[in-house]
Amino acid sequence: MTATYHVKTFGCQMNVYDSERIGELLETEGYAAAGIDSADVVVLNTCHIREKAAEKVYSDIGRLRARPAVPRIVIAGCVAQAEGAEIIHRAPAVDVVVGPNAYHRLPALLRAGGKAMVDTDMPAVSKFEALPPRRAISGASAFLTVQEGCDKFCTFCVVPYTRGGEVSRPSVALIAEAAALIAAGAVELTLLGQNVNAYRDGDVTLAGLIRAIAALPGLARLRYLTSHPRDMGDDLIAVHRDVAQLMPYLHLPVQSGSDRLLRAMNRAHTRDSYLRTLDKLRIARPDVALSGDFIVGFPGETDADFAATVSIVREVGYAAAYSFKYSPRPGTPAAGMADHVPGPVKDARLAELQATIAGSALAFNRASVGKRCDILLDRAGRRQGQLIGKSPWLQSVFVVSPGASIGDMITVDLIDAQPNSLEGAPVPLTDPIRAAA
Ligand code: SAM
Ligand code: SF4
Repeated sequence: MTATYHVKTFGCQMNVYDSERIGELLETEGYAAAGIDSADVVVLNTCHIREKAAEKVYSDIGRLRARPAVPRIVIAGCVAQAEGAEIIHRAPAVDVVVGPNAYHRLPALLRAGGKAMVDTDMPAVSKFEALPPRRAISGASAFLTVQEGCDKFCTFCVVPYTRGGEVSRPSVALIAEAAALIAAGAVELTLLGQNVNAYRDGDVTLAGLIRAIAALPGLARLRYLTSHPRDMGDDLIAVHRDVAQLMPYLHLPVQSGSDRLLRAMNRAHTRDSYLRTLDKLRIARPDVALSGDFIVGFPGETDADFAATVSIVREVGYAAAYSFKYSPRPGTPAAGMADHVPGPVKDARLAELQATIAGSALAFNRASVGKRCDILLDRAGRRQGQLIGKSPWLQSVFVVSPGASIGDMITVDLIDAQPNSLEGAPVPLTDPIRAAA
């Protein structure tokens, strides 16, 4: 009988990409995909960025242990890297712990068949060279990891410890992988990196890589994330002006609107330098939509610091943004700082910031009503016949378009707006304006 596997992903898009590659590896070994309740091998691809994300893994291990036929349990990702053998002490049901830079060795670890195996090496030879070629993708949008790791050491963040230093993949390999994804049906690619705009292979920067990938025939859309404000160079900004396939959207986390806190966070940008970068970007691409990440309740955050964060959200007019309560992470400098902000204060600040962000997103979406654009359909809606697609500005657009299916790009008029989505009306090919275009 064929052995089966299931990969459950926690955290960011980079983990989504890694999970796809782990699935490909296991399929090359003869495993078939199955549900989490029946698979013989279950891989939990974990996230360590906040305490809550890390703790979820242990409740999942408990549920897997309670299954009538307990599967082989693999812990991959950043919790695996950060906690290593500790995981097996705490949860002896775990068979294998494999770090984000060592998962290409997972088939060998499974073949060895033992218990309590830990591989959290950061090997010199990149895992990417050991992975099988890309196979069929689901949908028409695919992720492509181009850069991993981080040298920035923001004082709150575990990434430099769990993912190691900044490493860029060779541009030649990336262009080949992009072409393989397009051949497998991708019309949209999102280039990923913990600091994607720090990408550099010899004299090829992210700007050069985007230009090269955009030149591949068959690619309609390109995106990239996550960027650091410090690495937002003029060459990358120019690409937003020059490359039609690059969508008018940028995720550029600022974390706080207060210079005092940005210094304490070791962010290497100020409120003003961040805003000036956005000004340049808007000159290059006037319709660009912006999103960001924010942390509330960083140690020592005062009411005035928090007010500066709320005011930068209003000033920028984000189309979307992610906000988090500061979570102390073991081994990071901020965890040992004085003046930790009490939980209820963090809760109140998060609620106020999220209401401000929702207001900003609604204003952005309302301003989109009346526009005509293409959407790439990526999932079914809840109502009969309803599909959901992404606009160029990464908004979710609900549409009923008989004959269309997931993976299609269709043209819509945006006719109504909510904080998290829009409604679109399909534009028939016979529409006089469209036919004339
Ligand atoms: N490299 C990106 C940057 O510099 O903005 C961010 C990558 S990080 C994986 C994603 C987000 O998680 C960060 O932007 C930050 O807002 C949040 N984050 C990181 N560490 C955190 C912590 N200790 N507590 C709360 N949020 C955190
Ligand atoms: Fe973490 Fe991003 Fe700072 Fe790197 S730049 S330490 S990934 S928040």
